[in-house]
Amino acid sequence: MTWWERANRVMPGGVNSPVRTFSAVGGSPPFAASASGPHVITEDGRSLIDFIASWGALIFGHADPRIIEPVIAAASRGTSFGIPTRAEVELAETIVSLVPAVDVVRMVNSGTEATATSIRVARAATGRSGIVKFEGCYHGHADAFLVRAGSGAATMGEPDSPGVPARTVSDTRSARFNDVDSAQSCFADGDVGAVIVEPVAGNMGVVPPEPGFLAGLRQLCDDNGALLIFDEVMTGFRVARGGAQERFGITPDLTCLGKIVAGGTAAAAYGGREDLMRMVSPDGPVYQAGTLSGNPLAVAAGLACLRAISADPGLHERLEAMGEKMEERLRAAISQSGRPGVVQRVGAMLTVFLGPERVISWDDTIEIDRDRFARFHRHALDNGVLLPPSPFEAWFLMDSHGPVIDEAGDVLCRAIVETA
Ligand SMILES: *Cc1c(COP(=O)(O)O)cnc(C)c1O
Repeated sequence: MTWWERANRVMPGGVNSPVRTFSAVGGSPPFAASASGPHVITEDGRSLIDFIASWGALIFGHADPRIIEPVIAAASRGTSFGIPTRAEVELAETIVSLVPAVDVVRMVNSGTEATATSIRVARAATGRSGIVKFEGCYHGHADAFLVRAGSGAATMGEPDSPGVPARTVSDTRSARFNDVDSAQSCFADGDVGAVIVEPVAGNMGVVPPEPGFLAGLRQLCDDNGALLIFDEVMTGFRVARGGAQERFGITPDLTCLGKIVAGGTAAAAYGGREDLMRMVSPDGPVYQAGTLSGNPLAVAAGLACLRAISADPGLHERLEAMGEKMEERLRAAISQSGRPGVVQRVGAMLTVFLGPERVISWDDTIEIDRDRFARFHRHALDNGVLLPPSPFEAWFLMDSHGPVIDEAGDVLCRAIVETA
């Protein structure tokens, strides 16, 4: 029996998170045995240039010694205590210093926890239960966010997954990304306490905010006494040192962080304005807790990663330059292929959409040619480049891609042309 067959016997779909399956592109996923820099070494001994990058959690590369050495040192001092540590304070201080809208922060264990709790804080602060999210944005798997939006216009929520009772999403309204008017129409009944958004959408493929969209949401919230929550689990520390809020100059009330904040280990965080965060237990009445929150291994990795980011003022410029060059090459390959498609990118996150000419909201993703993406994905993989196995995902650039980016670009451009 193969590892994949064994996995499927004992795990749903053979995986611990659904995006890891290869059902959208065919075949079975490679198994990672180890990784270093831009490369993943598979169980069957192949070396792949990796653009999954732990779904955005890695910004430097795999097994970066600046991160793993402090983790090993932390592990040897003990893996969990249940009383405070110095490193937690240092990590919180570092997050506060880097992310403009975060004055006070709480560590949690996953992005899902960060977004779910930020909504709890916003509801407590405003006394209103309604939330607005955007179709195609992903905020983890908590009940309140698992909502399919009907026509893309503002609609009352309807559960997107069996097991989510309709009443748990009845306060969730879904609006069109990049459409302030559609968000505004969700405010009609006056009960909206929060608007939550990925400031750069990354979970329907990369969709940048149109000029004025984020500022429009800020204004809408201010005019209506609602809070603006930026889910920067993916964009934080990636699209700029201080995340999308720094890159686009918009200040949210609450910010969710994950992925890079824990340097490739299991942790996340939420934070924001002091008055809001002081509502969190035990300073205030909003309850949220975690046995392994602020876990020493995750904190060591997060602190090392954020310190490496702080110590490297050229990092985001290098990533931007690498992304720009890759974008140009991929665009040229698409036009050479003679088939429709577009590259969308913000900093070190990009998506090649095969089919659409432009994606500004979820509606546009209907144009995606799934078969063509599957052929393209397989061709790239056969030639040593590992992409997320879905046409609706962001690809992530890491600093360590530098020396191999031309080689990866050659493979990807050839794949685009030859599978068109
Ligand atoms: C990954 C992601 C999440 C969920 O984080 P988990 O750690 O997987 O729970 C939430 N929001 C965004 C924008 C994400 O990209």
